[in-house]
Amino acid sequence: MSGFLSSRHRSGHCPAPGRPRVSPPARSVLSCSCGPLSPDRGCGLYEARAACKGTAVESRACCHICTGCTKDTHERKADSMDQAGPRVAIIGAGIAGLSCAARLRAAGIWPVVFEKSRGIGGRTATRRAQALRFDHGAQYVTAKGPGFAMYLGRAITAGHASRWGAPALGRHVGLPGMSGLAQPLADGVEIRFGTEIRAARHGPDGWTLSTDDGPLADRFDRLVCTCPAPQALRLFPDLGGALAHVEMAPCWALMLALDTPMPHLPDAEKLSEGPLSFVARNASKPARDPGPETWVIHASPDWSRAHLELEKETVRDLLAQAFAAHAGQAPAIAHATAHRWRFAMVTRPLGQPFLSARDGHLLLGGDWALGPRVEAAFDSGHAMAKALIG
Ligand SMILES: Cc1cc2nc3c(=O)[nH]c(=O)nc-3n(C[C@H](O)[C@H](O)[C@H](O)COP(=O)(O)OP(=O)(O)OC[C@H]3O[C@@H](n4cnc5c(N)ncnc54)[C@H](O)[C@@H]3O)c2cc1C
Repeated sequence: MSGFLSSRHRSGHCPAPGRPRVSPPARSVLSCSCGPLSPDRGCGLYEARAACKGTAVESRACCHICTGCTKDTHERKADSMDQAGPRVAIIGAGIAGLSCAARLRAAGIWPVVFEKSRGIGGRTATRRAQALRFDHGAQYVTAKGPGFAMYLGRAITAGHASRWGAPALGRHVGLPGMSGLAQPLADGVEIRFGTEIRAARHGPDGWTLSTDDGPLADRFDRLVCTCPAPQALRLFPDLGGALAHVEMAPCWALMLALDTPMPHLPDAEKLSEGPLSFVARNASKPARDPGPETWVIHASPDWSRAHLELEKETVRDLLAQAFAAHAGQAPAIAHATAHRWRFAMVTRPLGQPFLSARDGHLLLGGDWALGPRVEAAFDSGHAMAKALIG
C-alpha cells in the first residue's frame, strides 16, 4: 500500500506549503492540505477521505485523494499499480477521452485523465444555475453505428440515458442531464479535475505534462489529446498542417427559465433560417427537475460567428428577443444566461478517426476527427484506445 501512497504523492496534486513542485522520491510521507499522512498508517486513501469529513477542502483540484475516492475506485487504482501496459495520459474527460479511457481500462491499462473543468462530459454538458439545470451543449444523441448503439443500450439499462421524443427520431438524452451520458465511461477511471494541461513535452523518459503550477511529476509512455482541434493546436503548434485543416464553428447558447410555460411550442425544433438553429424545451426531457419551464436556445453558426466577441449579457438579450420573435410572444423570463461555445461543432473534420504523431507516442482525436456528433467523439476515442492496445 505504501507504494500506492507514494504514487499518489508523485501526482503533484496535494500541494502543501513550501513543497517543491516535483515531489520527493517514492515512499515519502504523503501530505496535503488536510494534514500529513504516512504510509505506515495503512490505507491512507481512506483515512484521508475520513479525515476530510467536515473539513473545508477548497476544491476538488485542491486534494484529489480526499475528494475523489470511493472504495471501488480505490481498489481498482491499487490494482493498477501492477499493470503491465504503457502508462497512458489522456487530456480531456469529454466523451472521446472517456471512451478511450474505458476501452483501455477494459484491456487492463489504467490511464490517467486530466480535465480542466470540474466535471465529466465536455460539450455533452449540463449547467447548474441555482436550482435549475440546463443541457446547454449537445441536446441529444442518436446512434448510427453498432459500437455507440451498444453503449447507449447499456447506458439506458443502467439508468444513465433515456429516449426523448418520438421513437422514430431515435433521440436519446443523458440522465439526470446530458453529462450523465458520460458516467458509465467514467466509472473507475482516475480523473484529475481542475487540471488544465498547458504544455506537453516528450523526452527520453516519456511525456511530461505541465500546468500553470509547473511540470507534473508523473511520466507517461503515451499521450492522448482530445481537446477541440484548435486547442490541440495550441499545445502542439508543430502539427499545424493536419490540425489546421480542421474547422470548427462556434455556438451561442441561451438558457431560459420561464414563469409562464409556452405550451404552443413543440418540445424541440430545428431551424434552418434566421438567428436560431435549435430550440428545445429542456424541461420536456425525461427525469428533469420539476420547477419553472426551462428552455435551451442555440444560435446558428453564422449568427454566433458574427456576434462571437459580444458580452454575454448583450447576447442574452439579443437571443431572448429572437426567441420571442420565434414564439410569437414575449416569454415571461425568470432566469436567463448565455454561454459561448467557441468550438462547438466541427464543420470540416479531419476525415479519419484520429491523428498519430511523435512515432505513435501522441494520438489526437475527438469529434473533430469524424463529425459534429457525440457518436463521432465516442468512435474516435475507441479507435485511439484500439491503436494503443495493439
Ligand atoms: C451547442 C452544442 C450543441 C450540440 N448538439 C449536439 C447534438 O444535439 N447531438 C450531438 O450528437 N452532438 C452535439 N454537439 C456536439 C457534441 O457535443 C460533441 O461532438 C462531443 O461532445 C465532443 O466530445 P469530445 O470528447 O470530442 O470533445 P469535448 O466534449 O470538447 O471534450 C474535450 C474535453 O477536454 C477538456 N480540455 C480541453 N483542453 C484541455 C486542457 N488543456 N487540459 C485539460 N482538459 C482540457 C475540456 O474541458 C473537455 O471536457 C453539440 C455541441 C455543442 C457545443
